[in-house]
Amino acid sequence: MQSFWEQTSWLEADLVVIGGGLVGISTAISFIENNLGKKVVVLERGLVPSGASTRNAGFACFGSVSEIASDIDLMGADRARDIVQQRIDGLALLRARCKGADIGYQDDGGHEIFCDNHPALARIEEVNDCIAPILGNNAFAIRNDLIRAYGFSSAVTTLVRTPFEATLDSGKLVRSLWNIASYNGIDIRTGAEVVEVDDTGGCVNVHVRTHHNAHTITAQQVVLATNAWIPGLVASSHMPAIRPGRGQVLVTEPLRNLALRGSFHFDEGFYYFRNLGDRVLLGGGRNLDFEAETTTSHETTEPIQSALESMLRDLILPEHQEIAIAYRWAGTMAFTTSKQPYVGRVSPSIVVAFGCNGMGVALSSSIATSASTML
Ligand SMILES: Cc1cc2nc3c(=O)[nH]c(=O)nc-3n(C[C@H](O)[C@H](O)[C@H](O)COP(=O)(O)OP(=O)(O)OC[C@H]3O[C@@H](n4cnc5c(N)ncnc54)[C@H](O)[C@@H]3O)c2cc1C
Repeated sequence: MQSFWEQTSWLEADLVVIGGGLVGISTAISFIENNLGKKVVVLERGLVPSGASTRNAGFACFGSVSEIASDIDLMGADRARDIVQQRIDGLALLRARCKGADIGYQDDGGHEIFCDNHPALARIEEVNDCIAPILGNNAFAIRNDLIRAYGFSSAVTTLVRTPFEATLDSGKLVRSLWNIASYNGIDIRTGAEVVEVDDTGGCVNVHVRTHHNAHTITAQQVVLATNAWIPGLVASSHMPAIRPGRGQVLVTEPLRNLALRGSFHFDEGFYYFRNLGDRVLLGGGRNLDFEAETTTSHETTEPIQSALESMLRDLILPEHQEIAIAYRWAGTMAFTTSKQPYVGRVSPSIVVAFGCNGMGVALSSSIATSASTML
């Protein structure tokens, strides 16, 4: 049994947000900004945020030229432009929220490299025209002079650059958001794994397991922001299906005379890399084994890590003799079939918010705004 003190001061809340990643913490902040004085609790099962938000590549991106061209084919120019607008707005909101905090933001531009005559290369003007109302003319331009300057292999035949993409430090970003949340009185509890949510009609009972014991927190409303782990807690026929996708990453030791700067996309976004100071972060390779990579496991695998290493040595850093790998990890993305995020109610007092589709840095703030206005 809980004590009176535990129950009244710790186990009741106006809003419980489950999941302390970019979507969850931003939703909590967004809600408190418009509901000063309300009691908001964020429950995170890890001791630190343990989902995609602190295991990603830190691209502040809005879509590469091949990706936007493919979206135009898939959904038409107007819808493709709307999505770019959503990402750009989300990035602006995120930066405004973190203004003054060190999130490691580096304005070095974004790039897409090609080793073949990809059809998107003939569509740069079309893509530029499509998004000109958002970013002005010529968001993307061919800059083949950078292929040699950055030290890529001669297998790279074309490089497209945009000045509107940037990189950031994902650890510092989430930490800044947690600090902003705490500063605004939001109660973040770590090591708190939610095992069940039960909407009773009048309120929601959130059953939490910790290393030490189990508790039930009673909330007026709940937002479920556990990304790929949402299906473990709620099921609804109204909610789009969620497909988990593992993303594997490696980071090198510092490299002498590293030339490349900024973020880079390759093979329709299945590979991505960037400089991290004097190191290189490289991730991707899900397309090598889609079935095995449809998992929430955070284990790395030998075949994908070797493929990443080969790409690193042969394509990205052919002039570097000594490359040592300092970090390897994996994280889980959540994909929807439409490639669109989803924010909706699954019961009178439970809202779900997910589906960043591998672009949570840009989309999480807009998703959070939608979720908090629904409360
Ligand atoms: C390898 C990789 C690279 C990526 N690169 C980029 C990039 O460069 N740019 C970009 O924009 N996006 C990138 N992404 C995607 C981006 O990281 C995600 O879209 C974003 O972090 C999703 O945020 P989220 O809050 O929805 O989910 P998450 O960050 O996964 O947060 C969910 C949280 O819920 C917690 N949780 C789960 N179950 C429970 C439970 N039962 N009880 C309590 N807590 C629970 C988890 O521990 C986790 O902290 C990448 C993703 C990966 C995996």
